[in-house]
Amino acid sequence: SAIELEDVVKEYLSHGEVVQAVKGVTLDIAEGEFFSLLGPSGCGKTTTMRMVAGFEAPTKGLVKLHGQDVTNVPPNKRDINMVFQSYALFPHMSVWDNVAFGLKQRRTPDEEIGRRVGEMLEIVDLTGREKRRPRELSGGQQQRVALARALVNRPRALLLDEPLGALDLKLRQAMQIELKRIQREVGITFVYVTHDQNEALTMSDRIAVMNDGLVEQLAGPREIYERPATAFVAGFIGTSNLLAGAATGGELKIGGGRVLVPGQSGDVTVTVRPEKITIGTDEPDPGCSAVRGTVSEVAYLGTYNSYAVSLADGAEITVFQQNALDATATAERGDSVWLSWQARHSY
Ligand code: ADP
Ligand code: MG
Repeated sequence: SAIELEDVVKEYLSHGEVVQAVKGVTLDIAEGEFFSLLGPSGCGKTTTMRMVAGFEAPTKGLVKLHGQDVTNVPPNKRDINMVFQSYALFPHMSVWDNVAFGLKQRRTPDEEIGRRVGEMLEIVDLTGREKRRPRELSGGQQQRVALARALVNRPRALLLDEPLGALDLKLRQAMQIELKRIQREVGITFVYVTHDQNEALTMSDRIAVMNDGLVEQLAGPREIYERPATAFVAGFIGTSNLLAGAATGGELKIGGGRVLVPGQSGDVTVTVRPEKITIGTDEPDPGCSAVRGTVSEVAYLGTYNSYAVSLADGAEITVFQQNALDATATAERGDSVWLSWQARHSY
């Protein structure tokens, strides 16, 4: 594996009190993987990355790179680079010189610098802009220069800490696809830090979802979304509906209907994603979970409609429905409707 963390803890002393920024993180990141650390602000993502890069020493635990214990090895000896949200380009230098800087410092022969910088600018799609200064470039182009500069000395892993945070949504989405392409092309391990679930879901081979200094789930995007391991993960990723109550005989009686919770009894909480729910006026198949309600809002969102449906007991359920080719609204505000889903789609 490329990067291993073994029960890593980081404590800071803040105003005389011990703050645990990272409370015991164990990770095993494979060579060539696009790996994301996802979680809300303050959960310990940056601190974790800084320990991988060597800018911070763990209070406890081990950091290994390519099988070697580097816990006490300084950053410049780790064969790893880091890219930040603030691109930190040299403003007075051209694009070419910014990218070539590290190679020049290492006294790489001119001919090799020429070849490698040229190659890297082609990969990040900046060929023809070699002579420009950073301020003559868009935010997305500046970020690509920063990326080229971090990749040109061929580190074995690249750490990216919220690198697209300063870009607007459209550009960010375009750069997500670009980053994935670049990673595939250079074949280097990328560890990507973000608080943006869409970003993590779009690009990653695997995601570690962090909360309060700990990893709550480590899995592929699909599993994280379809099978969140904890209530925190379910709430943090995507939109979910939570239904709670006392179950008897594997059913939760709620909203004039039933929620199937096979094998469960007592107090239960059920999560169901908005796009797994069918909205309609006909009484659903008895093999499904089904509840009754009244449509309180309909929002047309282009590729899908979003419905808010109020149940008799006050709970509100969100439903997303794909717009079909012959799109006609299936429900309108004030309509009395059935909501149904298969038991395997709630958890
Ligand atoms: P994230 O990158 O997920 O937003 P950080 O790793 O930056 O989170 O911070 C995690 C926690 O550790 C936060 O509560 C933060 O205030 C605290 N922290 C980070 N760096 C320091 C420091 N140098 N001194 C004291 N507390 C810190
Ligand atoms: Mg951070």
